Amino acid sequence: MERPKKKLGVYRDKRSPAATNEPFGDEAPLEPEGRTLGGAFVVHLHDATRRHYDLRLEIGGVLASFAVPRGPSLDPDAKNLAVKTEDHPIEYLEFEDVIPEAQYGAGPMIAWDRGWVDYLEGPAEEEIPRGKLDLRLRGMKLRGRFALVKLKKSAKGDEWLLFKKKDAHADPARDVVSELPRSVLSGLTVEELERRDAIGAAWEREALGLGERGAAADLFAPGRPPLAVARAGVPSREDGLVYDAELDGVRVLATRDGDLVSLRRPSESGSQRGIEAFYPDVVRALRALPLTRIVIDGELCAFDESGRPSATLLARRAERIARGEPHRAVAEIPVVLVASDLLVAGAADLREAPLERRRALLEKVLPPLGFLRAAPPLEGALARIVASCKALGIAGVVAKRRDGRYDASDGGWVRIGTGAPRTRVEIVHETQDKVVVSNRRKVFFPEDGLTKGDLCDYYAAIAEAILPHLAARPVILVRYPDGIAGKSFYQWNVPPGMPPWVRTTSLVDEEGTPKRGFLVDDAATLLYIANLACIPVHILACRVPDLAQADFFTIDFDVKQSELRHAITLAKTLRELLDAIGLPGFPKTSGQSGLHVLVPLGPGQSFDTACALAELVGKLLVERHPEIATMERIVKRRGAKVYVDTGQTGASRAIVAPYSVRAVPGARVSTPLAWDEVSPDLDPGRFTIATVPARFARLGDPMRGMLEARPDVARAVAALDALVRRAR
Ligand code: MN
Repeated sequence: MERPKKKLGVYRDKRSPAATNEPFGDEAPLEPEGRTLGGAFVVHLHDATRRHYDLRLEIGGVLASFAVPRGPSLDPDAKNLAVKTEDHPIEYLEFEDVIPEAQYGAGPMIAWDRGWVDYLEGPAEEEIPRGKLDLRLRGMKLRGRFALVKLKKSAKGDEWLLFKKKDAHADPARDVVSELPRSVLSGLTVEELERRDAIGAAWEREALGLGERGAAADLFAPGRPPLAVARAGVPSREDGLVYDAELDGVRVLATRDGDLVSLRRPSESGSQRGIEAFYPDVVRALRALPLTRIVIDGELCAFDESGRPSATLLARRAERIARGEPHRAVAEIPVVLVASDLLVAGAADLREAPLERRRALLEKVLPPLGFLRAAPPLEGALARIVASCKALGIAGVVAKRRDGRYDASDGGWVRIGTGAPRTRVEIVHETQDKVVVSNRRKVFFPEDGLTKGDLCDYYAAIAEAILPHLAARPVILVRYPDGIAGKSFYQWNVPPGMPPWVRTTSLVDEEGTPKRGFLVDDAATLLYIANLACIPVHILACRVPDLAQADFFTIDFDVKQSELRHAITLAKTLRELLDAIGLPGFPKTSGQSGLHVLVPLGPGQSFDTACALAELVGKLLVERHPEIATMERIVKRRGAKVYVDTGQTGASRAIVAPYSVRAVPGARVSTPLAWDEVSPDLDPGRFTIATVPARFARLGDPMRGMLEARPDVARAVAALDALVRRAR
């Protein structure tokens, strides 16, 4: 299949995937093409050849990008030049790093702001060509209405102006870029980003002067985390106390050790699983910190419009993530870890250090404004604190000794109720494995009137048959967001914000670029990818964890320039050949017009062996039927012959899976056949999403034997060798 032209072509042309640390993701549209009414946004501060801010807005599955030399302003009279640059992949939302020297855009880049953007005047895809984009931003720093307007006299046609519209968030007196210079992820300035290791080391030295050098293994061990708890009561004396307001959120022990981040709740009993899959924004921020080893006690909070923590919002976000809308849920409802204690910093265990020293260090190592924040403790007379908390609807405060150690055993902390009612919202961190199919009625096969709902129903109905063929294999999607008449694209990378229950694996694509692919091991994941408008499901001929080993090879009989009856003759000869060398073969319709024969090899075979076998078998076939078969790679030279394609086997060669739907009229299915069906009356057009589930119910899977086959490959290679020598 020909690869469609990508929106990200310019982005990729400018960068070398082997040399840059920037992401190389695919398009990942949230909405049907051309209808983006909202999305995520990020503002990067980029210290390249010339320092500038990059405003990136999610539109149609990519980030439309504008370089703003002076940065955004809250003054409606300040019209700032914004030069439209190449679209960036969605994964760039998470990017913060130093782009290596000699690469495009070399220099440090911090995530200066992040949030959600609404397009107020209609789909952004329609507004951009008109040269006007009305935005409402809900970021950590930028809020309210902004406009981007294209300059009519722009020489290259890419010069726009960015300015604040008049509203409650406009403020000509404030200089937001100099007032709030730090990253919302790491808390570093763009200058500090290049020195982050040194900064982390300095903080660790400071921590070692405060606490003990220690492994703190109990804090990193899975299961119920050793968090300090407060007992109810009234403190005997008020001097030497500070207070923490009880926030409406989820209490967690957040740990980071290198790349390993976990978020665990005090209620977690024996469970190995944390809840970090529900908080990718907080996890990303923990990974951005200069301290690569850290343990924080804190509360995960989502803030409502008035700035109050809202458990209702948290519950809604968790529910949407479980339902399979993580990217949107995370961008629309950001979560902040409000940290009240620092237990480990680098190699230092701080639990014996005085609380106020721990908190002072905590304030230093966390961003002042971002996904991680230090909670300011409340100080003063208890009665006044209780009264003001009650007025804010806060149900309790926790009294802690300023000089107290962190004690998970006896509860040195005292909880004092304020009289405000406690909110009781249940936040469920369980995935329901439930996939809701969106746009069910969208027509995907216009000639047949079949819809996206029909496609998804087919995959749900055939799950039992297809899943054993997909299990543990990297799966590559070919997505058709507008059905088979619209544009399509290969998706080697999983889109951002995967549901927490979807399994993925690292792999490399055809160009050798590292990617993260799907593993489709259950019916929910299968339905999830169908709902991403994936029509054909492609698999690699290997299974995790041994991605360098081929467990089958494919002979593809392509009849575009010939006839099916010749492919049938060739497939039958192939079967005889395979019989002679002791290998089984399993035929299926390609789902277009030809035939595939899959030859299982069992475990432990290299791709080199698989490719060599395929090539030799193909050559023997052509030698036996030179009048109807060719292996000529150049299409024009093939003549009216069946093309015996043996090139579909390779470490990054994806082939269409058994029971996969094809993006052709009729919604044909690549259908496994019994050998006696490989006969002149075979009609591949009979196998469609309408007929194949019933066929499977009636006949079972003719290809089931693929999965258990353990042929003697060494003997087959020797036998084939003898055959070839005899033929010469
Ligand atoms: Mn830039």
